[in-house]
This record gives sequence, C-alpha cells and structure tokens, in this order.
Amino acid sequence: MANEVTSDMTDEATRARDEPTHFIQDIIEQDLAGGKHNAVVTRFPPEPNGYLHIGHAKSIVLNYSLAKDFSGRFHLRFDDTNPTTEDAEFVDSIQRDIRWLGVDWGDNLFHASDYFERLYRFAEQLINQEQAYVDSLSDEDVRAYRGTVTEAGKPSPHRDRSVAENLDLFRRMRAGEFQDGEHVLRAKIDMASPNMKMRDPLIYRIRRHHHYRTGDEWCIYPLYDFAHCLSDYIEGITHSICTLEFENNRELYDWILDALVKGERPHQYEFARLAMTHTIMSKRNLLELVRDGHVSGWDDPRMPTLSGYRRRGYTPEAIRRFCEAIGVAKNNSTVEVALLEHTLRDDLNRRARRVMAVLDPLPVVIENYPQDKQEELDAAYFPADIGKEGSRRLPFSANLLIERADFAEHPPKGFHRLTVGGRVRLRHGYVIRCDGVERDDAGNIAKLRCSHEPDTLDAAPKGPRVKGTIHWVCAKTAVEVEVRLFDRLFKDEFPGAGDADFKDSLNPNSLTVGRAHVELSLKSAAVGDLFQFERTGFFRVDEDTQGDGLVFNRTVPLKDSWAKQSKQDLAPPKRERSKPGAVASTPALLLDADAQALVDTHALDPSQAKVLAENPRLLATFNDALSSGQPAQALSAIIANDIRSAAKGIDGDLPISGQGVARVVELTSSGKISSSAAKRLIKAMVGGEGDPDAIIKARGLAKMGDDELSSVVAAALAQNAEVVERYRAGEKNLFGVLMGAAMREAAGRADAGAVKKVLSEALG
Ligand code: ATP
Ligand code: MG
Repeated sequence: MANEVTSDMTDEATRARDEPTHFIQDIIEQDLAGGKHNAVVTRFPPEPNGYLHIGHAKSIVLNYSLAKDFSGRFHLRFDDTNPTTEDAEFVDSIQRDIRWLGVDWGDNLFHASDYFERLYRFAEQLINQEQAYVDSLSDEDVRAYRGTVTEAGKPSPHRDRSVAENLDLFRRMRAGEFQDGEHVLRAKIDMASPNMKMRDPLIYRIRRHHHYRTGDEWCIYPLYDFAHCLSDYIEGITHSICTLEFENNRELYDWILDALVKGERPHQYEFARLAMTHTIMSKRNLLELVRDGHVSGWDDPRMPTLSGYRRRGYTPEAIRRFCEAIGVAKNNSTVEVALLEHTLRDDLNRRARRVMAVLDPLPVVIENYPQDKQEELDAAYFPADIGKEGSRRLPFSANLLIERADFAEHPPKGFHRLTVGGRVRLRHGYVIRCDGVERDDAGNIAKLRCSHEPDTLDAAPKGPRVKGTIHWVCAKTAVEVEVRLFDRLFKDEFPGAGDADFKDSLNPNSLTVGRAHVELSLKSAAVGDLFQFERTGFFRVDEDTQGDGLVFNRTVPLKDSWAKQSKQDLAPPKRERSKPGAVASTPALLLDADAQALVDTHALDPSQAKVLAENPRLLATFNDALSSGQPAQALSAIIANDIRSAAKGIDGDLPISGQGVARVVELTSSGKISSSAAKRLIKAMVGGEGDPDAIIKARGLAKMGDDELSSVVAAALAQNAEVVERYRAGEKNLFGVLMGAAMREAAGRADAGAVKKVLSEALG
C-alpha cells in the first residue's frame, strides 16, 4: 500500500525555461553570451550544524534549476570549517533531505575540509604577498580597534610584522604552539574602509577542537569569508549564489580572489532569503526549540525543517512548486505561510486517496436494515475529475458512526446535514433519514435512530432532493487510531520581531492528540502513506505507528480555518482560482491596500505590485502603459524589475513612456527580440536613447531567425571541434562549454532555450 513519494526535478527544471526569467538567469545568459564563463556551475553550501529548513529548499531549488537549465553542474558542498558546531548526524540528514527534494548532485559531493591544506597554502601566499599578518590582540581589542560605521578603525600594533615573522608565527599556530585566541591571521586591507568587512578581516583562528572529518589534524581553521570564495574557486563554481545579508561580504570575496588567483573565477550574487509568517528560520533558534524540548525533535511535524514537513505529509513536489512560485528577487519580503499550504493542498488533492474517518463519533443505528447483515459497497478512491483509477470495498451495516458536528437537533438556517426528520446521503452509500434520538442519563444525545432508503445506492432518492452528503464509517469494522492535529507552532505572525523572544510566541495548542475511527481499508496503511480523510483534511501515517497502533498526522485541513480565526487585521484571504498557475496569484506577501488593489484589479504578481505601489514614478508609467492593451502582468514585470533597476540614480521623470514599455512587451511576446535583448533595450531607453525600434536597428538587437541560429551554432561547433569530439566520445558534461560558445556567438540575439534546442539537435 505504500505510496512512496519519489520524484525528479528534471522535467520541471526544463519547463521553467519557458516561464519569465529572473535576474540571476539573466546574469547567466549574459555571462555565457559575453564569454565571462563557458559553463554554469552552482553549489549549495550548507554548514552541517543543523537540519535543513524550507529556506534552504529555496536555495537548493534555485541553484539546482540554474545548473539544469544551462546544462551545467550542481555541487553539494559541506561548508565544514567550524569544528565546534558540526556533526556527522547533520551531514547525513542534509543529504537525505536534499535527495528527498528530488535533487541529485551525482558525483559532485564536496567538503570544504578537504581543502584545508590548499587553503593553508593560499594563506601563506597572502602573507608572502604582504597581504596578511598575524595579529596578537585580544578579541576585545580587535573589536575596539575596528572602529565604527562612522569612525575609521586604527591599525593593530602588529600590522607591520615582517613577512618572515608572520610566516614563522603562522606556521607555529598550525603546529599547535599557541592556545585558542592567542593569535589570529588577518587580511591586510584597509582599517578605514567604509565597508566594515574590509577592515582587516580575520581569516584564520586557533580552535583546539576535534573536527568530525579531519580529527585532530588541524588546530587552526579558516573563517567563512576566506574559505568560501576559495572553495568556490577550487571547484570551478561560476555563480556563487547567496542571500542578501552577504552583500557586504562580496567586496571581500572579490578581494581575496583577486589577490590569490588568476583566470576564470567565481562571482557572488545575492538574492532575497525566504521569510515566512508564523515561522522562524534561523538554525540557532530551531536548535533551541529542539534542545529545550518545545518540540519532539528536528523532525517534529510542526517544525519548518524539511524532515518535519516530510513527516507531516508534505510532498517534495509541493515544496519545489512553492519555491518556484515565490520567485527570486532582490528585495526581502515575507511570504504568507498560507501560500505554502495552498500549494500543498493543490498537490495532495491530485495525489491522496479519499477515504473516510470519523474524528468525533456519534453512533447511528439504521433500524430498517437487517441488524446482522453486512454488505460491501464499491467506493472509488478519487473523484472523476482527478482522472485516477482505484477503488476499495466499503463495509456497511446497521451500526454506523458519523461526525457529531454533522447532526443538529436545532439546525441553524442553511444547515444541509442531518436533523431529526431530515435526510442526507451517506458518501458512497444510501440516503438515510433521522427518525429520532436516544439520550444518555445526562440528557446528551447518545445515538441517532435512522432508516435508509434501499434503492438510493446508485440513484437519486424519490421525493424531495437531498442537499447534504456526510462521511461515516461502519462501527463494527472501523479501526481505532491515534490522530495528531497540528496548529501553527507560533501564534504571532512575526515571532521574535523587535525585542520579543520568539519563544513567547509559541502556541500552547499547536498539538492536539485525539482518536479517530477509520474505515477498514486503512488497517493495512503503511508509514508514509498519504490520504484525504473526506471533509476533515489530508493525513499521513506517522513513523510512530507500531503494529496495529496506527498514528496519523494531519498534514493540513482541507480549508484554511486559521484565516477566519485570527486575521482580522490582515487583508482577507483571496478566493482561490482554479485555473492552472493560480498559485502565483494567491497572496504571497503582506501587501498594503494599494498593492493589494493592483493584485485584485490586474492579477499582478504580488511582489511586483508592492514595488509599483511604493514607487509613484513606476506606477505612473504602468498606468500610462495599460492603455496600450498589452497584458498588465507583462508590463508590470518589465516596469517593476528592469525599469526599476535601470532608473536607479535618475531623478525626476523617467525618460521612458508607457507606450515605449508597451512596445517592448509587444516585441518580446511576438518573438522579435530575446529577453536579454529586451533588457538591453530597456536600459538604452531609460538612458535616453529614444525610440525602441530605432535602438533595435542601431544596436542589432533583433532576434535571429532559425536559419541564422543554425549557422551560428554550426560556427560555434566548428570553432570547438575538439570539444565536440570529446563530447561525442562521452564527456557529456562538456555540453555547458558548447552552450557557452553558442550563446557567445549568438551575441544576445537568441534565447538560451532556443540555443539549447538547436545545439542539442546539432549534436544529435
Ligand atoms: P540559518 O540562518 O538558518 O542558520 P545559514 O545561512 O546559517 O542558515 P547555511 O547552512 O550556512 O545556513 O546555509 C546554506 C545556504 O542556504 C546558504 O547559501 C544560505 O544563503 C542559504 N539559506 C539559508 N537560509 C535561507 C533562507 N531563509 N532562504 C534562502 N536561502 C537560505
Ligand atoms: Mg551560514
């Protein structure tokens, strides 16, 4: 019965090329076209000091898709340079979680700790070049000498040690002659730099600590800024993608590589990290929850870790689709957790078999049904519109259980479920009528007395129409199981915001353990199986299941009840659209009224709506462009992304009209110019060059036809005959090199997708 979730990202990654591009894809296209790189090599560099969370998934999916899209390579590298916090347990869990996501790093598994010797030699090279020195100030003094943002730092008294003295001290640091903290190695850059990261950053420190891989071989360890860029270089990474908080580190990244290596080298690019409402994502804080017993472990189903989501019943497909839906942007924003849940429901809806379970049972006796009879009803696992096969036999008898809430003695207006004298259909079964109630000694309803209408199994009942259908189980054969119902782990939208302690926001009711009566077919359910309990939610069989003692986690209720409970102060949740791609149009960000209005009126991407609402100039251009009749989403994509960045530093009115933008959209959607040419066109227009058609002519930006593209690709192959030969002999990873050559030859006048297609054909 196990429906193990397996998946592979290849198809989705390929499909993604037809969707609008984001800024990192654009950078890569330009790098390949301009010859900065021949191939694309990306990496995901986790520090093995905790389990992966959903923010990491965003980074993994991004890096992996980029490598796939451009036929490049994806590396998994453990950034294991800090022996005090790292552990092999984390290394294993990280690999398991990445595989589960459907991401395959092939042979490209690396460890920064494998480079310790090379990194050490790079450090000596810096000393020899008089670009690094051993400092012997205490931690506090190093800090005090560094100065502040408004005040230059001052040089350490050890800054001018000779090369010989520095080498001697550094070698003795390695040899273990000193205690922790006695000396450090620092890059010699600029104590007055406006960028604090450049004020002689520490690059090596003494840590007499056992390392989970290198044991006691080392007692000095490189710091992140030194180890990371050089590890990227050693592996031939081309695009080193990290989150925005590393923006200030980029100058140092470049400085170190400029000082130490020649030729092709990696470059760092930053994107916005994922933040989500009701969720914390710092590993340090997650560790605290685990350590202090607020949750049962890293894989507690309430945790935002990949192992927690897996255990709860999330699928890798849902998480990947969520990562794609939120997009890749350059400004930080918060995504509503409701978007993740929406994506999940969408996925489970197509995947999970429908079965029946009663959480709060009310006994029903069918008095006109033979009391010792049992029949089996045929019940499909999926509704017809899902298009999936499969059914089970559902036991039916005179004794049933229904949900207590599906009966009302004094029904409110519009109640379509069971009432005394009323009728409902039992799902997959008969129409029944309630004839009366039996009460216990305390006067509470203990049982419903009902009768069934025998020929209603596959037919409409005689008499008045029956409005409601309810779920049920056969009391004699039902299996009693444990159910774990989850609510948000944090009550507040922004746990720990400001000075608050994130733990103060923990929801004391985040876990409710109860019992349920499930239909007989679930007796053989296996750990990992996913189901929809009709009308109650999606459930997954938990690892705590033992023998007959089944445990079900509720993955997510069918509808978002949270929004009703506590979101008065927020924009109301929007109706869900049923058309494909609807995910992106549900509210992902916390929007103010103006931005929300743009989303509502024009179905704009929420993050773009936010940009437009916050920039009067851009909004004016957008409104002006709308009259052209070009699609609002295409206009907003160009205005909120390309024009916004091209217009930085320009004061006053923009030298580009709404009509000009509309013309760019028209040229792009009709295939006359490529997306990278469109970016150059926009830049030129914002730069004041005027008419788009004239610019295209003057700069040769028009897209090439199929014939020209074929001959361009042929030319690129001819120039790289040797590589082609090796590729054909089996070195398939050289595809990226050829792709780079072809992109360069095409000089921005063809999309990467088109180049890739023609190139694949040419190579057979
Ligand atoms: P945390 O801040 O949660 O402790 P980290 O950045 O210290 O995470 P690493 O193991 O160093 O954890 O992260 C590995 C990679 O994942 C880095 O490239 C980092 O930029 C990325 N990453 C971490 N958190 C997020 C997030 N919330 N959104 C996107 N990427 C993230
Ligand atoms: Mg980190």
